Amino acid sequence: MKIVILPGDGIGPEISAVTIDVLQAVSRTHGLGLELLHDSAGLDSLRVHGATVTPALLEKVRGADGLVLGPMSTYEMKDEARGEVNPSKFFRKELDLYANIRPARTYPGLPNKVGEFDLVVVRENTEGFYADRNMEQGNGEMLVTKDVAISLRRITRQCCERIAESAFALARTRKQHVSIVHKANVLKIGDGMFIDACHEVAKRYPDVTVNDFIVDAMMAHVVRAPSRFDVIVTTNMFGDILSDLTSELSGSLGLGASLNAGSGFAMAQASHGSAPDIAGRDCANPSSLVLSAAMLLAWHGQRSGDQAFVTAARAIEQATTEAIACGEMTADVGGRMGTKAAGKALTARLA
Ligand code: ATP
Repeated sequence: MKIVILPGDGIGPEISAVTIDVLQAVSRTHGLGLELLHDSAGLDSLRVHGATVTPALLEKVRGADGLVLGPMSTYEMKDEARGEVNPSKFFRKELDLYANIRPARTYPGLPNKVGEFDLVVVRENTEGFYADRNMEQGNGEMLVTKDVAISLRRITRQCCERIAESAFALARTRKQHVSIVHKANVLKIGDGMFIDACHEVAKRYPDVTVNDFIVDAMMAHVVRAPSRFDVIVTTNMFGDILSDLTSELSGSLGLGASLNAGSGFAMAQASHGSAPDIAGRDCANPSSLVLSAAMLLAWHGQRSGDQAFVTAARAIEQATTEAIACGEMTADVGGRMGTKAAGKALTARLA
């Protein structure tokens, strides 16, 4: 398996370094034969190549079996004409990585205020409120006059159906329950279509139970009793916001793993941003990206039928869980180590 590694901006290089060590360790111990291809995207690439992502990089990624994308300082990427393309958007769109899978669960030994839970947010990744990816040409966000802005939200039946399919198929492997999150009381047409498509797909999964929640009420439900949820399917921006909440409820944003999956390619990516406030201070929790990389290995193992990848992914999850329980992790989860030391300790558990 060839994996391209793009460390990214802010805390990206620190948490990517740990992820690389972990991948190399499981490759050795589980005989995976991983080939890691190192390259750059984001502000680093902008400095060197004049663009945050280059056509050559896209070709390299297309030739690989998976991608680990570090967090990007997307806020600083303002003008695509100057090469400031959001790499996260770029790869999601170019590779049609339509399903953003964001698990969140509580960990033994890590105090939490909301009781134990284990859920997954399945977020549509290619349209919705993200105006910058909704057009074939041009941008869906425009300034009509200097005081009037329009941002275009696109919802298509095809994208609703395929994300619903991902959610129901995932639920079948878990507690067989899907919650649909929407705002169909206001967005009657777009979110009405989303709910209809989800219920249409649900007919093919009679063993999976379904309910639905309006997104604002969902924020209260998920804080009040997260244990009642299993798989949550929602549109793009609602999923982005909701999954930050669920990962923080699990203990820290630094535990927020995610996989962006299409029909033939997947990209591991932490669900948080580049965290410039803590960059370079050796305190970022590497678990988000490490666990995302584990999801990538499991995805590859399930598709290829090579059980060793699935076993390696489980070993990473187990080692991370144990490291958190005994304080061999960063301060955001009550640990006593810096990023580098936590990474070394985690890698040692897998060696
Ligand atoms: P960006 O502009 O790139 O989105 P941000 O700081 O606005 O960056 P996040 O990167 O998502 O948004 O960070 C939100 C908060 O969570 C910050 O206070 C950050 O320090 C914290 N945080 C994010 N990731 C981690 C991590 N891996 N470990 C510890 N804290 C983190």
